[in-house]
Amino acid sequence: MNGKLKIYDTLSKSLKVFEPIHAPLVGMYVCGPTVYSNVHLGNVRTFTSFDIMFRYLTHLGFKVRYVRNITDAGHLENDADEGEDKIGKKAKLEQLEPMEIVQRYTTDFREVMKQFNNLPPSIEPTATGHIIEQIELTKKILENGFAYESNGTIYFDVEKFSAAYPYTELSGRNLEELLNNTRELGGQSEKKGRLDFALWIKAKPEHIMRWPSPWGEGFPGWHLECSAMSSKYLGTHFDIHGGGMDLIPTHHTNEVAQHLACFHQKPVNYWIHTNMLTVNGQKMSKSLGNSFLPHELFTGNHPLLDKGYSPMVVRFFMLQAHYRSTLDFSNEALQAAEKGFSRLMNACKLVSGLPVSTETEVDALAIKEQVYESLNEDFNTPLALAALFEGVRAINAVQDAKLKIDEKNKAILVQVYSEIVFDVLGLQAESNQNEHIVDGIMQMVLEQRKLAKQRKDFSASDAIRDQLKALGIEVKDGKEGSTYHINS
Ligand SMILES: [Zn+2]
Repeated sequence: MNGKLKIYDTLSKSLKVFEPIHAPLVGMYVCGPTVYSNVHLGNVRTFTSFDIMFRYLTHLGFKVRYVRNITDAGHLENDADEGEDKIGKKAKLEQLEPMEIVQRYTTDFREVMKQFNNLPPSIEPTATGHIIEQIELTKKILENGFAYESNGTIYFDVEKFSAAYPYTELSGRNLEELLNNTRELGGQSEKKGRLDFALWIKAKPEHIMRWPSPWGEGFPGWHLECSAMSSKYLGTHFDIHGGGMDLIPTHHTNEVAQHLACFHQKPVNYWIHTNMLTVNGQKMSKSLGNSFLPHELFTGNHPLLDKGYSPMVVRFFMLQAHYRSTLDFSNEALQAAEKGFSRLMNACKLVSGLPVSTETEVDALAIKEQVYESLNEDFNTPLALAALFEGVRAINAVQDAKLKIDEKNKAILVQVYSEIVFDVLGLQAESNQNEHIVDGIMQMVLEQRKLAKQRKDFSASDAIRDQLKALGIEVKDGKEGSTYHINS
């Protein structure tokens, strides 16, 4: 296929042709979740976006090593190295071992990734599994003169670093302004400079997760783990580093600084950042009450949702926006996605059985080229979908004998739809042959439950709901009747 993949690099703020350092090998590091609670949809969007990139790069013939970490220690409640460790706090609250919290939410995370059909990364390292590497990096940064010890905690010296390298290059922020806007250090602070951040933190007596180090018992700062694990598995100069755009100002800025302070070179050639999720135009946040978990989205059990949507409908919905644009959840948009997804799946089913003629009125090559051009333009999935839907119209028209297609063009369509829709976009057909029978039975059961309610036989209506729940089927009662969701 003609054309080269172009990727938008946050650091240079430009679209750059993708040239791997050691083609056909590609190294990609993505900052993974902190496993102290159920994975939220913003994270799902981020990891789905990188899954598409992983899949497309692989499809283009690159051998991709995709490293996505699990943060299981060191992530404090705020970015200023203050507050409790998120996992430690949850462990205390639930009277569990921190590792029980880690296990529970790592399992949840992997299950949700699987439901969305995101491929597992090549390596999924954990922060606690790389304490030695993090201590070694800290030593190196100290040796290189970009860090200092203060009462058992090692801080990165931003002022000293800024004299040698541009600290705010990734965020594009003005260093002076940043210094002025960062609040004054309290009298008891052990930091020299306002922007200094901890590489290694001395553990207070009540801190559970702690390890011995040359500076006493402590634990690593959150930013350090990614520098340690990315350089360990991908080398000191690799191709792609990514994450959500909320990581740019602090986490990734500090990662770049640590990397330069250690290895005197930038970590990667391409920084990729995904945009945020909104709900009805507002930022999704727990405090606004408009944030829902994947499970709530599947079942529809959330006040803002009219009904449940399957993981593949949500995946399709996410692909309709480019990863660098915000993605707005609304019932209308999800319902439209449900229809679109079903049209696409239907065309995928039809394509291999299309009747052929000796002549063609369908230019399959043009559709194929449009799909690849779109994906080559910084993984532009909405444009790729638009091209695929042009094909869907053609497929339906051939099926209805309104257009003709020949063997050669049909073969191209069959290949494009199978490789792009399933392998690259990672969509999956959800229906099985018994689906309409199950749906028919469910409608009958829901009707019986409605009748029971109407005759005020609530013990019967509740029993139906509870028995369905025991089978893994959740019923949601809405204004326009009840809907159901089968938990897979
Ligand atoms: Zn990271």
